[in-house]
Amino acid sequence: MPFASLGLIDELVRAVTDEGYTHPTPVQQEAIPLALEGRDVVGSAQTGTGKTAAFLLPILQRLTPGPRHTLRALVLVPTRELAEQVLQSARTYGRHLHLTAAAVYGGVGMEPQTRALRRGVDIVVATPGRLLDHMERGHVDYSALEVLVLDEADRMLDMGFAPDVRRILRALPSERQTMLFSATISAEVDALARAALNGHASVEIGRRAATADGIEHVIIAVDKVHKRAALARILLARPEGQTLVFTRTKYGADKLAAALKRDGIAAHALHGDKAQRQRQQTLDAFREGRVDTLVATDIAARGIDVDGIRMVVNYDVPTDPEAYVHRVGRTARAGAHGLALTLMAVDEWLLMGDIEQLIGRSFPREVIPGFEPSIAPLEPRPVNAEPRRSRSSLRMRTGGRRRR
Ligand code: AMP
Repeated sequence: MPFASLGLIDELVRAVTDEGYTHPTPVQQEAIPLALEGRDVVGSAQTGTGKTAAFLLPILQRLTPGPRHTLRALVLVPTRELAEQVLQSARTYGRHLHLTAAAVYGGVGMEPQTRALRRGVDIVVATPGRLLDHMERGHVDYSALEVLVLDEADRMLDMGFAPDVRRILRALPSERQTMLFSATISAEVDALARAALNGHASVEIGRRAATADGIEHVIIAVDKVHKRAALARILLARPEGQTLVFTRTKYGADKLAAALKRDGIAAHALHGDKAQRQRQQTLDAFREGRVDTLVATDIAARGIDVDGIRMVVNYDVPTDPEAYVHRVGRTARAGAHGLALTLMAVDEWLLMGDIEQLIGRSFPREVIPGFEPSIAPLEPRPVNAEPRRSRSSLRMRTGGRRRR
């Protein structure tokens, strides 16, 4: 899909072409047409996805007709570095237009910023604290403001800017277009989005990878050859409730279900090679609790909507990070608590890292006594956010007797 087909004016298509961009990134493909329509947008997008152009191009287009040297677009960012970067991008993408932009951030003198604000600029890119300073001194006139962007909203909240952002929001005209971008959409970001978007209908774009808050994620490092025995240990020790186990292949699902049965666990396999009637029977038995463990492939699990699933086990780490989000979404439904447990072999370390990057959280690596891996697992790579839970102890959880 070429840039021109997104509905951008020629001056902007030329500017991105000058930059060597041939195609819009996925976030741009989704956000630009919506933003051009004037819709509010909540985008789950990390740095590197092209999100800056996703909001700047529609802003530049919107501001092209109309008055000049009048503050009509405000971009709030968490850091001065990002402010400078967004400012440079605005100048780059706007090079064939005649709009002005300025950055406002702390740590440098107020005076040049004051002069720019007084003279009037079309776009201001600002960090919240310094912008409030200028507002308190009467340097900022929002009466013509049309667009607000909250960029890297999660970082802004992490840095304690929530009160400042809310004060700024109160000073802005309520009739405006608002776009919010955040790497992760946590409950806090969601609350900010609701306040900033002012009840307007918004569209969510990008990879929304947030998993439900009620899910506890546990990664167990284990050698491949011990996975089956480790899983049996876990299942025999689990508290009551249904468990959904995921395998990568149909063959793997059959083999695992048969092995678990031999270990005394009422497990059934569910996958696309089974006859429809048989699948339905298995699902009914699972729903009614006659079968407490279902071993399924991703595709077969799509239709499973069982409320009592307390635990999801990734017997194989999914190769597609998004699949992890879908899999674990089968537990902790309707606000309940659920456990997402992943058995991770050495050759799956990198896949697990990709999943953590997508979700924006890293999870501790656990081991099961007696099934320690022969190579110590790598600590998780730091990602955008710290893990929300402290180290949970699987040892305790697997140590108990089964209650059934
Ligand atoms: P961002 O996610 O906005 O920080 O952008 C990340 C990088 O991707 C920046 O260096 C942009 O110049 C670049 N970029 C943005 N959009 C495109 C595109 N459509 N094609 C190629 N590069 C792009």
